[in-house]
Amino acid sequence: MQRISDKLLLWYDENARSLPWRSDPTPFKVWVSEIMLQQTQVETVIPYFQRFMARFPDLPSLAKAEESEVLQVWEGLGYYSRARNLHKAARLIVADYAGQIPADIAALKSLPGIGAYTAGAIASIAFGAPEPALDANIRRVTIRLLDLHEPPGSKTDAKLWEFARQILPASRIGDYNQALMDLGSAVCTPVNPLCQQCPLKSDCVAFQHGTQSELPVRKLKVKVPHKLVVAAVITRGSEVLLAHRPADGMLGNLWEYPGGSVAECTFDLPDALRALLNSRFGLSVEVESQLGVFQHAYTHFRITLHAFACQLPAPDRLTLPPDFAWAEISELSTFPMGKVARLISRGLAS
Ligand code: SF4
Repeated sequence: MQRISDKLLLWYDENARSLPWRSDPTPFKVWVSEIMLQQTQVETVIPYFQRFMARFPDLPSLAKAEESEVLQVWEGLGYYSRARNLHKAARLIVADYAGQIPADIAALKSLPGIGAYTAGAIASIAFGAPEPALDANIRRVTIRLLDLHEPPGSKTDAKLWEFARQILPASRIGDYNQALMDLGSAVCTPVNPLCQQCPLKSDCVAFQHGTQSELPVRKLKVKVPHKLVVAAVITRGSEVLLAHRPADGMLGNLWEYPGGSVAECTFDLPDALRALLNSRFGLSVEVESQLGVFQHAYTHFRITLHAFACQLPAPDRLTLPPDFAWAEISELSTFPMGKVARLISRGLAS
């Protein structure tokens, strides 16, 4: 009987997606692409990958860059800890591995931002190591192949990794893992999988039982919390006041408009903004008008941000709070920012 891996590799030879990191797949390209692909769709990643490679074509150029430059090139792709970890790992690879990305799975996992899946993907695709890789797509395919009706968790994970190891082929491991990724993306889709076109339908227990649409078993949906946020756009001639976020935590080391969250039931938002800037940063502002309302969803919560045009009574005599800076409005594109701050900046510059 033909093995699952043989069927998949035959299918891959005819159906592999043409992706920029697959032509001349250096370890550096594989690593950057795998980090970008964490929680992000292939189509979204492609232009960011190309922009990143144009600016940082190899590991030394990335290691030498300032973190702010890396964040700037990453801007728009989200989950900025990935960019910070990529940069940190590049410097560690230069310092500890003579600039060569390690092929060893334990060494890969010790680098910032590289977990079990990413280590398996890099080791197998870049170095041909006999390692499985279980991303969301491969996980779904595997769960359906086994007809596994278990909630997500460490027990389920252990079974999936064990099965993934058992069916690894003896050669072309990188192609095999990429074949599974492509199959999950194009055929074994989350909704309405194209089972009739699937090279694995005779191996797939869920297909035989007609249960593929019920799988994977999902976590119970938790209501995503909402935060009401106010922000001040404080101008001084051709400049605007920006705050630099701390390195650790969400949107670390990015710039934003000073503000913060207020109680959901807040009625007088300008007054709440005034009070917040005063208590948190010692700034006494005059709130002039509302500039816009922005909705944005992060992984664990969503926000509605109200941005207000503000003035400081005597901006030239002010001692700025730590991590605040005046920025020329015409140069805002050089300050790495999250999505909402960038939208506000574009509005200011237009
Ligand atoms: Fe997925 Fe259907 Fe193929 Fe099973 S037969 S692996 S459910 S596409």
